[in-house]
Amino acid sequence: MTAVADADRATSPGLVPEDKKYDADVIVIGAGPSGSAAAYWLATAGLDVLLLEKTTFPREKVCGDGLTPRGTRALVDMGIDVSQEAGWLHNKGLRVIGGGLRLELDWPELASFPSYGLVRPRADLDHLLVQQAVKAGARLHEQTSVTGPVMNSQGRVEGVTAVSRHAEARTDKTEITYRAPLVLACDGVSGRFGLALGHQRNDKRPMGVAVRRYYNSPRTNDDYLESWLELWDGPPGADDAKLLPGYGWIFGMGDGTSNVGLGVLNSSAGFQKTNYRELLTRWLDHTPEEWGFREENAIGTTQGAGLPMGFNRTPHYQNGVLLVGDSGGSVNPFNGEGIPYAMESGKFAAEAVIQALARPAGPSRERALHGYPAAMAAEWGAYYRLGGVFVKLIGNPAVMRACTRHGLPHPRLMKFVLKLLANLSDPRDGDASDRIITALTRITPALK
Ligand SMILES: Cc1cc2nc3c(=O)[nH]c(=O)nc-3n(C[C@H](O)[C@H](O)[C@H](O)COP(=O)(O)OP(=O)(O)OC[C@H]3O[C@@H](n4cnc5c(N)ncnc54)[C@H](O)[C@@H]3O)c2cc1C
Repeated sequence: MTAVADADRATSPGLVPEDKKYDADVIVIGAGPSGSAAAYWLATAGLDVLLLEKTTFPREKVCGDGLTPRGTRALVDMGIDVSQEAGWLHNKGLRVIGGGLRLELDWPELASFPSYGLVRPRADLDHLLVQQAVKAGARLHEQTSVTGPVMNSQGRVEGVTAVSRHAEARTDKTEITYRAPLVLACDGVSGRFGLALGHQRNDKRPMGVAVRRYYNSPRTNDDYLESWLELWDGPPGADDAKLLPGYGWIFGMGDGTSNVGLGVLNSSAGFQKTNYRELLTRWLDHTPEEWGFREENAIGTTQGAGLPMGFNRTPHYQNGVLLVGDSGGSVNPFNGEGIPYAMESGKFAAEAVIQALARPAGPSRERALHGYPAAMAAEWGAYYRLGGVFVKLIGNPAVMRACTRHGLPHPRLMKFVLKLLANLSDPRDGDASDRIITALTRITPALK
């Protein structure tokens, strides 16, 4: 038995007649930034989208809650009002702390990106994104946990099984089936849907783990995102202070709290051999008392999750399934930013699906679907390969220390580094630093 009544079945312009046996044109698993963005673009093109989400909105997501201008652009693209009046905290750049120095770098002025970033709790951000997808016409089923793929006799995925408490599920069975010719796995870092299909994580590619906690803090209003390149167990720079693995952040939330966290990369000796929660406390214990990052000001517990980077899960398309956002390892290895890449990959996936569903099932449709991994490789494949090298280099504390000490005192060099690390440059009509970044990514073979 399928979960959606005949009357609800797809009648969208996208499906060619033989596909009408399905419950929807496309099933999207997970309504995080990747799933909601994909659903929004698919529904905007008139496709019938079933967006299945195991939780209920608004819901929390472990995150730093910070967006660079790349994130701002992705939100603007989806028609989200990102004004301060609408509750967004704007930031004008990145404050970098390391090697005894403190440098404020403004976001670059570019044609391709706005010159401000944003901060917003994920509970709000993800709710706004999913509402935008629903407004565009996507059918959201909350409290619906996908349990596995439904395969046809040729080994192609043609739907999913799920456990649902959503009102429309209307079934007395514990597990229900939803059918569609295409499925987008947007289920985040766990990537269970891809794993169920046998897609393994590529451990040679970069991976990180990050933890964060909220504190009531007088640092709540900050118009820079703050990044710590060195974390000290002891007064910074003191003879007996020990350098801890990882990189930290302090993002003011503008509501009386700060989001404070750290990440450790798999190139670091401390990866998976460290108690990350304890690491955060040890670092924060040595920050100034008046900032308030102490137990008595903490809100909730320290929470963490993995950061799947540099396309560490592929293939991005196979047998009717597209891996999108974290489930496709799309986090930027240079800076650990994942939200904009999740949203942009959602758009690339949607573009491929929209073209594919306007063609009959078969080789022509498949060619259109392979346009998704091709777009991912063209957009970030070379940049992420460079990111993999970067992650290996900075995993060595001596290299990191040398970069911090010799790089930070040179603001012009740091402006270039900011553009490179945050992936913010103009591919056309840019300045000399944009041209260097474009040239670097042109001569580097793309990861797939
Ligand atoms: C501590 C930490 C800090 C971070 N800080 C930042 C930051 O400041 N800025 C930034 O840009 N990125 C940050 N990231 C990365 C960012 O959080 C992710 O890259 C981003 O959330 C990826 O979006 P997504 O849609 O791919 O996955 P997710 O946001 O994880 O969304 C997946 C969705 O799928 C749902 N789901 C999962 N399984 C199922 C299932 N079986 N059935 C139905 N639904 C399912 C989940 O409930 C969820 O809603 C951080 C990550 C961590 C861990």
